[in-house]
Amino acid sequence: MHNLWIGAVLALVVSGGAAAHEGPHDLRRMDFPAPVAGGRILAVDLHTHTVFSDGEVWPTIRVEEARRDGLAAMAVTEHLEYQPRAADIPHPDRNRSYQLSKAAAGESVLIIPGAEITGQMPPGHVNAVFITDANALSRVNPEAAIRTANAQGGFVFWNHPYWSRQQPDGVARLLPLHQSLIAQKQLHGIEVANGADYSESAFRIALDNNLAIIGTSDVHGLVDWDYDVPRGHRTVTLVLAPDGSATAIRKALGENRTAAWYRDSLIGRPAILEQIVRASLTLAPGGYAEGSKVLTAVVKNTSPVRYLLRVRSPQALYNSTDIVTVPPHGEAQIQVTGGVTPANLSLDFEILNTLVAPRQPLVLNLKPKAP
Ligand SMILES: [Zn+2]
Ligand SMILES: [Zn+2]
Repeated sequence: MHNLWIGAVLALVVSGGAAAHEGPHDLRRMDFPAPVAGGRILAVDLHTHTVFSDGEVWPTIRVEEARRDGLAAMAVTEHLEYQPRAADIPHPDRNRSYQLSKAAAGESVLIIPGAEITGQMPPGHVNAVFITDANALSRVNPEAAIRTANAQGGFVFWNHPYWSRQQPDGVARLLPLHQSLIAQKQLHGIEVANGADYSESAFRIALDNNLAIIGTSDVHGLVDWDYDVPRGHRTVTLVLAPDGSATAIRKALGENRTAAWYRDSLIGRPAILEQIVRASLTLAPGGYAEGSKVLTAVVKNTSPVRYLLRVRSPQALYNSTDIVTVPPHGEAQIQVTGGVTPANLSLDFEILNTLVAPRQPLVLNLKPKAP
């Protein structure tokens, strides 16, 4: 986390003085503005642990963290096969942490039933969410548990597929079991980001195999211990859904309407990231510098994401280099030379904190909204 924080400070320095202002918002909360096309952008965490497997907290604490973070939904996904606290906290009913979380959450956060199928590679670790009974998954081997989760209507995704404890070179690769599960539509998503980790090989697998792009915290301790909150935030999946209901989120996951939000980066397919960026950023003319034809363009950010932009338009810039930071719930003022007017203002950007494929940022044009 610290390296990233230093990177953000450097980014501010190299932005060459473009005015940037932080707003008064609660920067901890992961609330997003609505996409232009309608619906919602929902932050969800589909991979967490409590004392009911190898986590450090009771389910009520997970729920309170989720409420404070402004999550729309969370799954508590205990290891089925790994139960290091069973002597102290015996719980023959594997739905218990879900039940306690749901009771604690009330209407504040949607709690999704789930479990972590914890196998050797292959299949490795696999999360099943939107299941109806974790007990049925705990009685069979990992491959059968995946099939049982599917029979329950679950959404199934491969966890940390690059994990160096199971892939010593740290590279995710599909084995024949994964390939057959994908072909049979039994494996629907893959973590490209898990906690502090990001995997280019997992991202490539997601794109090449039409899998949902997932980011999760996999938190075991406290979110505030693992992330520099509120400067940092837990790793989550952003889901584009018509509303925040369980039905809408489940359907959106199945249709790959997801992106991972990891550190400052948004990772996803171009059409999804474009919707998130367009919901977040607006461009407006801010008037001329006194007695001049140097136009100020204001990029306003109404999201909790810290954006890093590269201006690709050819006009020379006056108060910044081509690299501009737009803070969460803040704005950046970019002064543009070359006779640009409020009527013809239009800027091309590389959104440097986005990835539409490994090492490839989203490129888009922003224009002021028609009055
Ligand atoms: Zn795991
Ligand atoms: Zn886990």
